[in-house]
Amino acid sequence: MTQKIDHEKVKSLVTELLTALGEDPTREGLLETPRRIANFWREFIEYDAGKLDTTFSAVKQSQMVAVTGMRVWSMCEHHMLPFWCDISIAYIANDKVLGLSKFARIAHKHSHKLTLQEQLVADIAHHVRIILGTDDVAVMAKGEHLCMTMRGIKTPHKMISSALSGKFHQAEQRAEFLRLVD
Ligand SMILES: [Zn+2]
Repeated sequence: MTQKIDHEKVKSLVTELLTALGEDPTREGLLETPRRIANFWREFIEYDAGKLDTTFSAVKQSQMVAVTGMRVWSMCEHHMLPFWCDISIAYIANDKVLGLSKFARIAHKHSHKLTLQEQLVADIAHHVRIILGTDDVAVMAKGEHLCMTMRGIKTPHKMISSALSGKFHQAEQRAEFLRLVD
């Protein structure tokens, strides 16, 4: 059940926005702009991450599994400007393991909406915990936010946020996770 956008309404609002910005929406370079922007929002909001919950039964001994460096793009809900993050997800595998592509699908699913990096990390961690039925999950994101790089304080940066639960509160697991994602 993907959220749907009102494509026609977005187009007409972009035409209005161009006018409010002092532009002439009928000049050649801008003629197709409202449609392109509405297409972008459709692609962004109506994103379908596909099947997310295929798990396999496997290894009986605990083993840390980490998938790192998954680049996603999202939109800051405070400024409606893009941010990107490299997402790392780890968990302690017991009797269930998650197919590798599912980590990326889950990361993309939660990034395709207006959100904040902290919320994105919390949403991904929550989703992975539910699918795997374990609390032993860690998620970290390192991102850059255009609302800080191109406006306001105008400073390139890395913002780092993490959500650790279950065994990742223990020093040993936490240290191994941090070593893997560095
Ligand atoms: Zn922002």
